[in-house]
Formats: sequence, structure tokens, C-alpha cells
Amino acid sequence: MSSRCFDTQNIKAEALRLGFSACGIARAEAVHPDVASSFSQWIADGKQANMHYMANHLDKRLNPCLLMEGTKSIISVALNYYPAQQLNENQYQFAWYAYGKDYHEVMKAKLNALAEFIRQQSNIDISYRVFCDTAPVLERYWAYKAGLGWIGKNTQLIIPQAGSCFFLGEIFMDAAVSEYDTPMENRCGNCSNCVDSCPTHALDGHLRLDANRCLSYLTIENRERIPSTEGRKMGNKVYGCDECQRSCPWNRFASPCMEVELQPNAPFLTMKKEDWHQLTEEQYRTIFKGSAVKRAKYSGLMRNIKQAEENEKDL
Ligand code: SF4
Ligand code: SF4
Repeated sequence: MSSRCFDTQNIKAEALRLGFSACGIARAEAVHPDVASSFSQWIADGKQANMHYMANHLDKRLNPCLLMEGTKSIISVALNYYPAQQLNENQYQFAWYAYGKDYHEVMKAKLNALAEFIRQQSNIDISYRVFCDTAPVLERYWAYKAGLGWIGKNTQLIIPQAGSCFFLGEIFMDAAVSEYDTPMENRCGNCSNCVDSCPTHALDGHLRLDANRCLSYLTIENRERIPSTEGRKMGNKVYGCDECQRSCPWNRFASPCMEVELQPNAPFLTMKKEDWHQLTEEQYRTIFKGSAVKRAKYSGLMRNIKQAEENEKDL
């Protein structure tokens, strides 16, 4: 093996040692033309709602070799976030992925550790970049190409016998590996649980999500008021939505996340509805210090709580 060609099994073993649940490697190349055209059409149809950044750097998003010149291999990893302990279902609900510390930080530290491990395997320097929801990268597509799983009708990556509750990350590197993975067949079959359970009909069953209707987008990214039709469908969800994951039979295989930094803090788990109604900005900063929930900002979270409170009155 030349010093510019790394042993795939070594890399995978180290990824698992670092706590990732899965790791695969794909050859870097432009995305499949069907995927490129479907993504471009999704943007042209405005299904990304106000996430205008999704339309930026389209050339790089559709060809990773333009995002990092000289990229030869894309290492995809998945980190489990399925919560060991869930919020009481009678209380306000937060998306599972947001229970613990902001995943960007946790993932980046692990990705950098894996990249440094690879670098140390060679006496010739390599160039790499790590990504986790931080650049124009079709993450689920690359995880699929790297053989981690398939993209289900809920648009999530499904890992067989493990489910869909995973953060995804990538290392782009300018070196080859000894063996590349091959994609897995879609195993959704005739199931349409996710499409049927989506409260706002945001999934079309053909791997397309309409963010304009999706409660995850509307309660997190969206800075405007929540449209009344979708707002009423929120029920007691105040940050994100997991309905299309909860209904997926593959998540019956999910195992609890043991990553210390992704565990929820005690105040978060014990908050009652009346506590959320009176949440001050200072309490918000304390409870969500270093958390992904900061993305919605205090004003966004309080908007959502108010909506959930109104939904209760309508019951
Ligand atoms: S997150 Fe909720 S609203 Fe969005 S597609 Fe899934 S089930 Fe539908
Ligand atoms: S709920 Fe069914 S259709 Fe949806 S992603 Fe899971 S297996 Fe696929």
C-alpha cells in the first residue's frame, strides 16, 4: 500500500473506537445526475422555504471536488443521538437531536480526531476538511454512497438494524483508500408510515420534503409567525418534530445514545409546562447553554410555547 492510499478497515475501526456508530467511504465525484436534477428542482420549486442558503454554492453542493480541490475520498460517519431518557409525553416536546450539547461541536471534535489519526498513518501530509451540517454538502447522499444506509421516504438516512437517529459528518481528503463502499438498496418497501404520520403532509413519499409545511423548519429555522394551519398541528411540540422518525419501524432497533455530551441536563428534563410559560431569557440561556436549541433564539422558542399553549386550549 502506498503512503497515499489508506487502509479502509483501519479508518473504520478508529471511527468506531471514537464512538461513531457507522463509517463508510465513497469515492469523491459529482453527484448522480438524477440527484442533481432532483435537488435543483426542489430549490426551483421553493421547497427549501426561507433557507435561502440551500440555493447557494449549488456547483459545490453537487460536486464535492469543487468544494475542496483535490478531494479523492469522502469518509461518512454517523453518531447516535436516540435519547436514553425521553421527556414526559404530557410535557412540551423537543426534537430528540436537541436534548444535549450542540452536535456541531461534538461531531467536529470527533471528526478532527479521526482525520488526525489518518494523517498519522502516513509520512506524507494529507489535506482534509471536516463537515457537519456546516457547508454545501449533500450529507445523506454521501452517507448513502458510503454504504451506511439508504434515504427513506422520511428523507432521513436509515441505517439497517439501527434506525435514523444519527448525526452525519464527513471528512473530505485528498488521498485514496484501499477499498470503497457500495450503496445499499432502499428497504422502505411498501411502508409509508412516515408519510402518513406527518401532521402537516410535508412529505410526498418520493423523498421530497416541503420545508414550508415541516414543523421542524417552522419551529426552528423560521423567524416569522407560524402559519395557523401548521401551528395548530404542532400539538405540544415546541422545538422540532420527530413524528416521521417515531413512526419509522427501523427506529425500533435504535439503541440509547451513551455519549456524555449529548445527554440532557436535569433542569431540561424536569421542566413542566407552567415553567416553560414563565421562562425568562436568563433561564433560557442557562438551560440551553451550548445547546442546539439556541438556533431558535429565545423569541422563537417563546413563540412556539405560546402556540402550544393555545393548542391546549383548543383541545
Ligand atoms: S419533521 Fe414532522 S412535520 Fe417535518 S416531515 Fe417529519 S413528521 Fe412532517
Ligand atoms: S417509516 Fe417506512 S417508509 Fe418511512 S422511512 Fe421508515 S421504513 Fe421508510
